[in-house]
Amino acid sequence: MRPLIGITCGIDHDRYYLSRFYSQGVEAAGGIPVLLPPVAASCCPALHQKLDGLILSGGVDLDPAAFGEEPRIGLGEITPERDAFELALTKVFLATPKPILAICRGLQLLNVAAGGTLWQDIAALGKDTLKHTQEAPRWYATHTVEFVAGTKLHDIFKQSNSIRVNSFHHQAIKTVAEGFMVSAVATDGIIEAIEARDYPYWLGVQWHPECMWEKDSRQMQLFESLVTACCGKNC
Ligand code: MN
Repeated sequence: MRPLIGITCGIDHDRYYLSRFYSQGVEAAGGIPVLLPPVAASCCPALHQKLDGLILSGGVDLDPAAFGEEPRIGLGEITPERDAFELALTKVFLATPKPILAICRGLQLLNVAAGGTLWQDIAALGKDTLKHTQEAPRWYATHTVEFVAGTKLHDIFKQSNSIRVNSFHHQAIKTVAEGFMVSAVATDGIIEAIEARDYPYWLGVQWHPECMWEKDSRQMQLFESLVTACCGKNC
């Protein structure tokens, strides 16, 4: 059976939206994508029961109230309904071993849902910070990330100790949630990936593999690893 993989959506005025590349990546990897609009937290246990895995997609900033901070200069747009839904759904998923692949904003949300914190705007970190909001095409890799040896992520990208990735974020992880570990960093020290220490597959990346996999097949390994984790012994 092909696994059902929920993918969260963004909110734009009267529309929900999602880049088709997430959905196409899941399907190409062997899963069936299920787009998830924000719904009440009370719906999350039923969604969790039906889904085999979850992708937390990219998007706008997370309300810093979610990690106990006041908004700082540099914070961008926030979407309270999306935050509430994704935090609630992620917490339900974190109560079981069902797989989560978290991308960009999704990585940040996963970290906060598990108790970590974020830099609200990495521009405030100073002039030695790399350009993480690239103005190159979305599929194009602009900076390097180095994998932490022995991590699940390094195993997924086992061909190399580093890889070049795209970058569309101005926030980043500040403190890593308990139970998680860093699995990749940029050359300026910005955390570019985390994963759970114990559970089989709770993994987040700061870059956008969905924009890259058509031109760089190594990025498809992320979607394939998620589908494999969702299938368990049923693949
Ligand atoms: Mn980056």
